[in-house]
Parts: sequence; C-alpha cells; structure tokens
Amino acid sequence: MPRHRRTGQLFVISAPSGVGKTTLVRSLLQELPELEFSVSCTTRPSRPGETDGRDYHFLVREVFLAGVKAGRFLEWAQVHGEYYGTDKLKLDEWLEAGKDVLLDIDVQGARQVRCIFPLAHNIFILPPSWGVLEQRLQARGTEAPDQIASRLSAARREVQEAPWYDFIVVNDVLETAVTDLISIIRAARCRRMAQAHRLRAILDFHPPPS
Ligand code: 5GP
Repeated sequence: MPRHRRTGQLFVISAPSGVGKTTLVRSLLQELPELEFSVSCTTRPSRPGETDGRDYHFLVREVFLAGVKAGRFLEWAQVHGEYYGTDKLKLDEWLEAGKDVLLDIDVQGARQVRCIFPLAHNIFILPPSWGVLEQRLQARGTEAPDQIASRLSAARREVQEAPWYDFIVVNDVLETAVTDLISIIRAARCRRMAQAHRLRAILDFHPPPS
C-alpha cells in the first residue's frame, strides 16, 4: 500500500422532508463536482422528474429485502412507510480511492452510519421555522393534506435528533445555506487528520546534500 495515501471523507446530510434538502444537495454537487453522491436504493415510487440511477435506484420490495438479507446495505431504514438504503459497494470503492462522499439519509440511517464511521461529518438542515416548513410542503404539491400532516409530525421527531449532529445549517436563503455547506466541507478537508498524508510526505522529504 502506498504510504502517502488519503482515504475519502464521509459527509452525511439529514433534514426533515420539505426543508429543501434535494435542491441544496444538487446545488452543492454543482459547486463541488469532485464530491461523490451516494445514490440510495428505495422502494418508493419515483416522482415526476426523477430518474432511476440518478436520484435513486428504484427497487421492488422483494429485491430490497433480499439486499438487506444479503448484507448489501451500509444502513437501511423505513421512512414514511417505504424502505431506503445505502449500497455499500460503491461507497467503499470511493472512500478507498480517496474520494469524498455525500450521503443524503434520514436520522435513523445517520445513526447507523455514525457507529460504523465515527469520523463521518454529520450535518443537519433545519427549516427557518415550522410555518415555513409547512408552506414549503404545501407548495411542493407532491403530498396529500394528510401526508403533509404526517410529514410535519415526523419532522418534529427528526429535529429532536439534531443535537447530536456536528453541524446545523438553516435553509432560509438557499445560496447562504449552500455556502455554509461548502465551508463545512472545505474546513473538514483542511483538518490535520485529513492532511496527514501531505504532512507525512513533506516531513519524510530529505533534500540531497548540496
Ligand atoms: P424522499 O422520499 O423525500 O426522497 O426521502 C425521504 C427521506 O428518506 C429523506 O429524509 C431522505 O434523506 C431519506 N433517505 C434517502 N435515502 C436514504 C437512505 O439510503 N437511507 C436512509 N436511511 N434514508 C434515506
């Protein structure tokens, strides 16, 4: 194994439904194209505009559950009645290759990942207020009124988990929230531990005597 190698860092983003995480994540990936996005598997049906393989790997329940049994997922959880999971093969490959990876997963999944990757950077996205969250869910127009109510009460439970995340970003103005996320990732990349391979390389370098 080469001595001065860097393994990738893991960034985990969670947010209650309707906070605008998908838009945030898309903007972030445009700004930091070298960041790999882990496309999750799900049993939920695709929404208009979503593409299989880009937004999610859409699986039927039997295939998903067979994957659970076969140990295919790094983590998995049931969210809003559907299954979601992170495929571990691609993730391991990226981290091994030194690439930083972004996971967009719920609080249950984030807890599981934290046990396996204690050095992962956990970021929680908050809405500016409950009123704004409700308005955003209504404006999205993808859920019926009873589903909106259930997503709001799920949001209240999810926000209870925010205190154990490393970073909290409020998604009020999109550009500001994206800048906050970029700053978190850049700062994480500058941490001594993330630069250990460079430090070692430069400390190991002995110029030849003149
Ligand atoms: P949506 O159906 O609105 O795209 O996502 C619903 C919730 O599932 C979001 O909180 C999202 O972060 C979460 N989610 C998406 N992919 C995964 C995954 O692979 N694992 C877990 N645990 N949650 C996920």
